[in-house]
Amino acid sequence: MPLDTYKEKRNFKVTPEPAGAPQKKKSESPKLQYVIQKHRATSLHYDFRLEHNGVLLSWAVPKGPSLDPSVKRLAMHVEDHPVEYGSFEGIIPQGQYGGGTVMLWDKGEWIPEDSNPTEAYQKGNMTFRLKAEKLNGKWKLIRINKNDKTWLLIKLKDEVAQPQKKYDITVEEPNSVKTSQ
Ligand code: MN
Repeated sequence: MPLDTYKEKRNFKVTPEPAGAPQKKKSESPKLQYVIQKHRATSLHYDFRLEHNGVLLSWAVPKGPSLDPSVKRLAMHVEDHPVEYGSFEGIIPQGQYGGGTVMLWDKGEWIPEDSNPTEAYQKGNMTFRLKAEKLNGKWKLIRINKNDKTWLLIKLKDEVAQPQKKYDITVEEPNSVKTSQ
């Protein structure tokens, strides 16, 4: 089952994270959800999530995204999350998996540029556009080695790309899109 790993790692009597609906409801919106959650766990990282086939495909990006096409950000592939996770903000109790603060850093939609997004994901070479509060424009996720969890998140050149030295988005826009704090 798609969310088995997610469920195995968590005790839903303790963590406030969503357990995931037993039967997935078809999304009423044709838009595909994209979110980044800023997660202060053992170490700070940014969880990058794309809705696909009723789950959120997920990558943990230690340094967060960069708007600079010459900057490649390490993105560790992690377990699929339920779509309900996309609106979650809260505190995971210490001692639980991922214990720490989860903040909704960015939210919007993603638009696949690949003609077959499932195949692109399986091949480890995804191209897409983001339409969100912080990230926009064209992006790529590329798996470095086959059968490995190591991917790279890369901004593609377009009108919203910016040199990292000029604009570090994680520094300039640190707050939640839900609470502005
Ligand atoms: Mn995380």
